Amino acid sequence: MRTEAQYRKDLEKMKTEIWMGGKKIEKFWDHPQIQAGINSQAVTFRYAEDPKFEHMMTTTSHVTGERVNRFTAMYQSIDDMWQMDVALRTMIHECGHCVGRCVGRDGLSAIGIVAYDVDQKYGTHYYENFKNFLKEYQAKDLTSCGAVTDVKGDRSKRPGQQEDPDMYLRVVERRKDGIVVRGAKANITTASYSEEIIAVPTRAFVKGEEDWSICFAIPTDTPGVKHIAMTSADDPTKPTEGPISNKYAFTDSLIIFDDVFVPEERIFLNGEWDEAARIGQLFGNFHRHSHCGCIPSRIDNLVGACQLIAKMNGIEKKAHVKNKLFELIKTGEMVYACGLAASHLGMETPSGIWQPNFIYSNLGKYYSGSTYGREMEICMDLAGGLSITMPKDEDYMNPVTRPYMEKYLRGSTNFTTDERIRAMRMMTDLCASEYSAVWMVGGVIGAGAPEAQKYSIMSNYDLTDQENYARAYIGMEPLKKEEVAGQEHIPAGFKSKK
Ligand SMILES: Cc1cc2nc3c(=O)[nH]c(=O)nc-3n(C[C@H](O)[C@H](O)[C@H](O)COP(=O)(O)OP(=O)(O)OC[C@H]3O[C@@H](n4cnc5c(N)ncnc54)[C@H](O)[C@@H]3O)c2cc1C
Repeated sequence: MRTEAQYRKDLEKMKTEIWMGGKKIEKFWDHPQIQAGINSQAVTFRYAEDPKFEHMMTTTSHVTGERVNRFTAMYQSIDDMWQMDVALRTMIHECGHCVGRCVGRDGLSAIGIVAYDVDQKYGTHYYENFKNFLKEYQAKDLTSCGAVTDVKGDRSKRPGQQEDPDMYLRVVERRKDGIVVRGAKANITTASYSEEIIAVPTRAFVKGEEDWSICFAIPTDTPGVKHIAMTSADDPTKPTEGPISNKYAFTDSLIIFDDVFVPEERIFLNGEWDEAARIGQLFGNFHRHSHCGCIPSRIDNLVGACQLIAKMNGIEKKAHVKNKLFELIKTGEMVYACGLAASHLGMETPSGIWQPNFIYSNLGKYYSGSTYGREMEICMDLAGGLSITMPKDEDYMNPVTRPYMEKYLRGSTNFTTDERIRAMRMMTDLCASEYSAVWMVGGVIGAGAPEAQKYSIMSNYDLTDQENYARAYIGMEPLKKEEVAGQEHIPAGFKSKK
């Protein structure tokens, strides 16, 4: 396993082509705002170095038997899966919102399950490719982004119906030793400083759409890969403004695949159109389960911030404040419980990888997305208007204006004005900044649109069971239903379909 220092040093070997703010970024590891993303990923190495967190942060690889960082491992059991939620909730207390190491790993988990099944069905060798890649990924303790979301063009048209066939990532050339791909993936978190891109199909395909039915992994700095990145990290030269986001944030990339060669051994699906959708759906399931660990931690951070600002404003004992804190706590704990349920009611797949229960992982993500606006409203309400209208650092540092700010911006006398100003800036970061807006949109539509989550819940909820109860009440014959082996312990109505 790598240490945090080794991880940071290894990034300096990369030649990733990144464009941001109109400029080509050389030495991305030195760029202050990209560093805010690197700092977030670095947390996953730092915690793994600490013997106190050994069980939470490390596990045994199912491909090598070696001890590996949990962020590179495939789940093998309920505990394995649940420890990821515990790890996310623990670490995000330190870095605000996201450690940025789940998306790629969630993509790999989906790939492992489907590659195994495709090999059984078609006699291909994708699982071998996957296993070899995973060995390298674990041995080097790599980081990756999950590149799922195609740019998609006109949403009402299939890939082949688009005016431009590159609206979905596709194969443009097949060679003996690999494929050449063209297209773009949008909104890809951590891509500019991750070491690998895990490319996963975003939708279901039909016969004739073989060229779009592809899945692979390549290093982020492969020739032809270009990142057009954005960051919501605050300006680190102004240390009190954006107290969280000037240290911990991330970038999102529009990744361009400009005729990129993917070697044969890095391909996990290549033309098997009938299996592509499962990878996308499983990715969604794994990733929504990950949200059940990070969202509760993000909400914990809001609860703490709201409690502190309420004290600074002298309102912490008021009934409405307690009610609002309760609302936040309720959401966080419900989502965490969904993560626990998804782990416990998950199932082992033929590949040996433990898969989360579809209903609970999707429900956790759907519920948290639907309450995000209310959480922001509570923060704005309890902090008051200064959370967005606080004069800037330059005025606080100016000897003419500072005394006025010192005098008039004090709240409860239990705190200094300086503390209250810093707390207000933290509230801006959490609920009224570009950084918070990225999180809010990500909270709603990240890991797939809410409709995709609803679809996953509805298609895995056993309506037949429920109709049979109704039929029994009125003496009707029950509908016949298909049982899924290994799910006998799961309550009726909540069984994952294979
Ligand atoms: C902060 C953030 C981080 C993200 N990180 C990642 C990442 O790391 N990796 C990654 O792969 N993706 C990432 N995403 C992308 C995310 O998964 C997508 O935004 C999501 O899947 C929706 O896709 P879209 O943005 O193209 O929106 P659209 O698909 O255009 O959806 C917009 C609306 O159109 C509806 N819609 C779309 N198509 C249809 C249709 N055919 N029929 C009916 N309604 C339709 C949707 O339900 C939704 O209401 C991230 C997004 C955000 C905001």
